[in-house]
Amino acid sequence: MWSTFTSGILIALGWSLGRLNPDNVYTPVLMLVAAIIAGAPIARNAWQTLRFRILGIPALVTVAALGAIAIGEYWEAAVVTFLFAFGSYLEARTLDKTRGALRELLELAPEIARVRRGDEEVEIPAAEVEVGDLVIVRPGEKIPVDGVVLTGLATVNQAAITGESIPVEKGEGDQVFGGTINEAGYLEITTDRAGEDTTFARIIHLVEAAQAEKGRSQELLDRFARYYTPGIMIVALLTFLITRNAVLALTLLVIACPGALVIATPVSVVAGIGNAAKQGILIKGGDHLEKIGRIETIVLDKTGTLTMGQPKLMGIWARAGDEKELLRLAGTVERFSEHPLAKPIVEAAEVEGPLPEASAFQVWPGRGVSAEVEGRLIAVGSIKLMEQLAVDFDEVAISRLREQEKLGRTAVLVSEGLEVIGALFLADTPRPDAYTLVRDLKKHGIKEVIMLTGDNALTAKAIAEELGLDGYYAEKLPEEKVEVIKELRQKGRIVAMVGDGINDAPALATADVGIAMGAAGTDVALETADLILMADRLDMLPYAIGLSRGTLSNIRQNVVFAVIVVFALLAGVFGQAVVLASGMLVHQASVLLVILNAMRLLRYRPAKVA
Ligand code: ADP
Ligand code: MG
Repeated sequence: MWSTFTSGILIALGWSLGRLNPDNVYTPVLMLVAAIIAGAPIARNAWQTLRFRILGIPALVTVAALGAIAIGEYWEAAVVTFLFAFGSYLEARTLDKTRGALRELLELAPEIARVRRGDEEVEIPAAEVEVGDLVIVRPGEKIPVDGVVLTGLATVNQAAITGESIPVEKGEGDQVFGGTINEAGYLEITTDRAGEDTTFARIIHLVEAAQAEKGRSQELLDRFARYYTPGIMIVALLTFLITRNAVLALTLLVIACPGALVIATPVSVVAGIGNAAKQGILIKGGDHLEKIGRIETIVLDKTGTLTMGQPKLMGIWARAGDEKELLRLAGTVERFSEHPLAKPIVEAAEVEGPLPEASAFQVWPGRGVSAEVEGRLIAVGSIKLMEQLAVDFDEVAISRLREQEKLGRTAVLVSEGLEVIGALFLADTPRPDAYTLVRDLKKHGIKEVIMLTGDNALTAKAIAEELGLDGYYAEKLPEEKVEVIKELRQKGRIVAMVGDGINDAPALATADVGIAMGAAGTDVALETADLILMADRLDMLPYAIGLSRGTLSNIRQNVVFAVIVVFALLAGVFGQAVVLASGMLVHQASVLLVILNAMRLLRYRPAKVA
């Protein structure tokens, strides 16, 4: 910065003196000094990259400046080096601003923690809290660690993690995240993770890594530049040998620098990823961004993704007429399951009274559960489970099931030994924002939206129709879900899979793009997914896709513009309409325009349908 500034002043001084007296001896000296001051860092830079066998733009500028000095064009040498230095300075500043999105996040990082040690409360740096420590958070303070609320009640702003600024209520047993703010209330938290292990710290690392990662198109460009720069040098040399016009050759050399082209992709990627991060959307890098922008088919898991994932018990059918007994048996078996269907069944059963002991508990993934209760083998699950256990399901049971499934409900059978003794009917309502999802996704160029579920076909059909989806795959076991994704990909489509990231991890990994939703605090999602929506909100999906497409078209605009500028300048040089200084000016202006265009992405908001 200092050298740019000084050389600028010297140039101005030399130019003014030149205006007063064209023959003064100071002007060339001032220009030469200006060129040396501004050029030295460029030459050093060129030399450093040259040692890695990279012939970059600084090398081009250095050669051009040296050439200009050699033929006595000090004025040109000074202007070329000054403009290049000034351009780099502006570029660095603008990129810095673009990275500001990340810095804003970093400013949310917790610094101190109030920890209870014995009877005492001590304040220590947040990074020194240990797992298991009891952390106290007063109103207005930042939560310093990831953990579980032991006592207290508070409204917490989780914007740092989920991008959502509407505060959420946190009470006993709730998960809280470091970097979020306790707006009102008092919390005592048992620490699960601290320092570098917190979700917040990992988000920061992911965003940093993503912004540094080079996309495939960027690598192509780098490879291109490796041939392009020496190529231009040869062309310039040939031009000089043929025309004997040193100024023309030098102008050619400088003007052909692909400055704007080189930064066209990275600035847009950094800006796009920065915008996303502020909304709680993590895009794992330029390459991922490019893939996201090309998605054609989106496959969504039903339970927990399209629906709330909190089914309610709507009805019971007991063959023997004793509904309470059926619920008691089913609840006892489900007590050991972590499936979303289990919770409402257990809760309803517990209302009726204490549940008995059970043994020989077994999970049948994507099918159901079974256990031995009071010496009886009880199973709760789908028809597939009954088939597997050789349970005899008769017409009566099937027709009971079907009539409920047509309503979009999930029906599970309950069996004792080899007989169906009843069924439970549950309903999981679609998320409110699921109704506009298809419309919003299509607006951003998605061709089809498909549901994938382990639930039965009738339920799937009812929900798919209600939400206006393009199709559904039902009754798929977890491993079959992977096969569905593979099939869709084999049809030549670019497929994204959206799931909760825990039990859908294999399908997420198989898809072209894995999208994890509501992923705050889940490690698997952070690792397998390409796109992570920290907030448990479906409307962030169209936002993320719109932003990715926006970023891709921004890159395209930049590249096309940069190429046009280079060609226009080259044509100008050969047409003798462009001289060294004006060419350099146009060149640097194009670099700035590319940066400014990319910065629009920071303010980008995907258009909502009116
Ligand atoms: P989804 O794709 O909707 O997440 P899953 O693959 O988890 O569905 O489960 C598929 C089906 O298996 C459920 O619709 C249900 O019929 C049955 N099932 C799975 N686990 C259980 C359980 N714990 N209790 C009863 N039924 C279950
Ligand atoms: Mg599931």
